[in-house]
This record gives sequence, structure tokens and C-alpha cells, in this order.
Amino acid sequence: MKIRILGTAAGGGLPQWNCGCAGCATARRTGTARSQDCLAISADGTAWYLVNASPDLRSQLLAAPELAPPPGTRATPLRGVLLTSGELDHILGLVTLREAAELTVHATAPVRAALHEAFPVGPLLAPYTKARWHTVAPGEAVELAGGLRAEAFALGGKRPRYAADLPALPSRHPAPAGDRTDWVVGYRFTDATGRARAVYAPGVAEWTPALDRAVADADLVILDGTFATDDELAERTGGARGSRGMGHLAVADSLPRLAGRPGPRYLYTHLNNTNPLAHRGSPEAAALAPALAAAGAAVAEDGMLVEL
Ligand SMILES: [Zn+2]
Repeated sequence: MKIRILGTAAGGGLPQWNCGCAGCATARRTGTARSQDCLAISADGTAWYLVNASPDLRSQLLAAPELAPPPGTRATPLRGVLLTSGELDHILGLVTLREAAELTVHATAPVRAALHEAFPVGPLLAPYTKARWHTVAPGEAVELAGGLRAEAFALGGKRPRYAADLPALPSRHPAPAGDRTDWVVGYRFTDATGRARAVYAPGVAEWTPALDRAVADADLVILDGTFATDDELAERTGGARGSRGMGHLAVADSLPRLAGRPGPRYLYTHLNNTNPLAHRGSPEAAALAPALAAAGAAVAEDGMLVEL
């Protein structure tokens, strides 16, 4: 199994275009930028899937040698996209994929509905590419090309702001949109041998039993590192919202869980530009590194390739 981490920043990226905070200013000056959260994964090294489609997708694809078209063709090793949420930083890149001859998108029922109604990228893509949409249900495995198997697990009911008013949804598991727990999911990936196991969960509101089960025997866990502490955003921007209220368990709160579950290699991703861990080489990041290392964790970097 090969995993290419394409982007590691939360929505807005680092630096954020309209932010002159110390961290964003440093990233501008030193070139230590991060693009928005996105991942490419393959079980056989030939058939690749994107997990999320970030607004930075074009440059992310161009920077990944595995995702280049074979010489002399207009083809792509990409076989589809799996979405962990309907948040704009995870779906705007779908528009970038419109040149594809065909496009397969896997999303949960509420996310799929949101992308056909509240933010209708599904109908918008139809004249450009042959798009196929598949509904992902937590707990049900999806068999993908190249021997890759993906199983989603529910991580929460936080909806994108643009879908705040979406009514009840038609699906195999009908429930009012507001009651659903699969607006945000993580994925557990295995290859055909069952020996390589990776978990991707860039939005973790709470450490749920489903997450616990997914992590239990994983080799690699890439998880939500949006904020270092619950009050980080409030402290740095003067706002009132805590990390957890925004659907993100802070690193300070997830780290003890990792320490209690040794075995997997843990990588934090989806780092907000307020998070000191986002700033490679900063004194604050260096001060936090030993605690991360003690729990088997590190910060993911754009372009990182992991082979399992
Ligand atoms: Zn900033």
C-alpha cells in the first residue's frame, strides 16, 4: 500500500491568503507553506484514489509523480475520490477533475445530497465528465480497484455551513439531516493481503468507539491535528469558539489517547494556520515534538510518501 499525503493544512491553507498573522507571515517569508488537506492512496501502486479533493488539487496532482498520465496518453492513474465530509476544503477540487473522461465519487448519503442540492457540484459536473456517485455507509466495506478496500466509520454530525438548512434526506438509512452522524467520516483502508492497514480521519470531533476500533490494529493512522489546544482559536483570534465546538478534537486532547494505544504510526494532518505545530522549525513546534514522539506521533508534511 502506498499513501501520498498531498496536503496537510486545514481550510484556508498556510499561509491563508487574507491572513497576516505571525505564522502566515513566516510561512510566506520562508516558503514553509502547506496546501489543503488531501491524500492519495493505492493498494497496488497502480490504481490510485484520492481521499478528499482540496481547492489546491491541481498543484497537488502535478507534484505527485504517481498521479501523472502515462506518456503519450490522456489517461490518469486516478480511479476515484472518497470524501470524508462535504466541507468546502474537501470538495472544491472536484471541479478541478472535470477534464477526466469519467469520475467516480464515494460519499455518505448526507454529503452526497448536499453536493447535489445545497452545493450542486454533482449536476454541475455532469456536462463535463461522466460522473458516477456511490453512497458510502459506515460499517460497509467498499471494494476498490487494485485490491484496495475502504470502510467508513462515522465521526460526527457537523454539517458544512452551506448545508445548514438541508432537510431530511432520502437514503437507505433515512434520518433527518440534523440527526445524522455520518456528515463526517473516517476511512479504514486495507489491501488485498489484509496486512497493510491505514486509517485516515482528518475531522475528529470526539474519540468515538468506532474510531477506537479502526485504530486498534492499524499500521498508520493519519488524524485530525487542526488545533493544538481547545482554546487556540479563541486565544489567537479573539473569537469564542472552542476547537471541539468546531468539530475538531485538539491535539492536546487526542495525544493521551494515542499514548494509550501504542503500535500504529500516528501522523497529524489538517493543521490550521493558528496551530503552532503547522509551523515547521518554529520554537513552539519544537517544544511540542517530544510529547508527540513519546506517543508515536509526528506531524504530516505535504508530499510525504508512506509505504506499508
Ligand atoms: Zn494566519
